[in-house]
Amino acid sequence: MAAGRLAQAGLDVAIVEAEKVGGECSFYACIPAMAMLRPGSLLAEVRRVPGAAEAVTGPLDVPTVLARRDELTGHQEDAGQVPWLTERGITLVRGWGRLAGEKGVAVGDAILEARQAVILAGGTRAALPDIDGLADARPWTNREATTAPAAPKSLVVIGGGVREQLRASLAEQGVDIRKGQSATAVRRQGDSVIVTLSDRSTQSCDSWAKPHRFFCPRGPVL
Ligand SMILES: Cc1cc2nc3c(=O)[nH]c(=O)nc-3n(C[C@H](O)[C@H](O)[C@H](O)COP(=O)(O)OP(=O)(O)OC[C@H]3O[C@@H](n4cnc5c(N)ncnc54)[C@H](O)[C@@H]3O)c2cc1C
Repeated sequence: MAAGRLAQAGLDVAIVEAEKVGGECSFYACIPAMAMLRPGSLLAEVRRVPGAAEAVTGPLDVPTVLARRDELTGHQEDAGQVPWLTERGITLVRGWGRLAGEKGVAVGDAILEARQAVILAGGTRAALPDIDGLADARPWTNREATTAPAAPKSLVVIGGGVREQLRASLAEQGVDIRKGQSATAVRRQGDSVIVTLSDRSTQSCDSWAKPHRFFCPRGPVL
């Protein structure tokens, strides 16, 4: 947004992007999450309304939901986002940017020198809570949850917040999501992931085919 507004105000603007134009929201967060949520919430709403409810006779068509999600995320290509930059005369420089002085940004061997200012808008990555074995068990973050090619048979979700959206969506897709307390340890065992809870009980979930992971953002087990 800042780049677009500055370009429209007549400034020369360049964006340095290491991955995809559009960032997390377009490919691993808002757009795919909403695409996965909307069909389930619409179905639930129709089922609440007598007269309309009778017209709904089947379950959610999960492959179609995921196909629409993939369409809305450009099949993980940013070709649909780049014209937004070019139409505004914004230069796109692909690569990892590093600050090089007060108004300099190095991308590979090239140095971009800003006349006015450099804006840092690098976003964030999912943070893993400090749970014994969790990092080694390679949990899903929002990235794996929003790009999964199919719903896993079982899933342990640790955490709420924005991930609650994804939990709801996965539950609507028929995923068996268990409720518990807080997670104290996580271990991979063959094709399963075993999560130990604070009452010492365990929950297991699909580790799924490699390289897929189980979903384990921060906070208590839901
Ligand atoms: C599941 C989920 C659902 C969400 N739903 C919503 C929603 O419905 N509505 C909403 O408003 N928000 C939502 N959010 C939050 C939203 O995704 C973020 O607030 C938003 O993506 C942040 O945008 P950003 O541009 O700050 O960072 P990002 O989207 O992370 O973009 C930063 C970009 O910078 C690039 N980058 C980083 N460092 C460098 C570097 N050194 N050199 C070059 N490039 C670099 C990255 O590759 C990335 O493309 C959701 C988040 C999640 C996880």
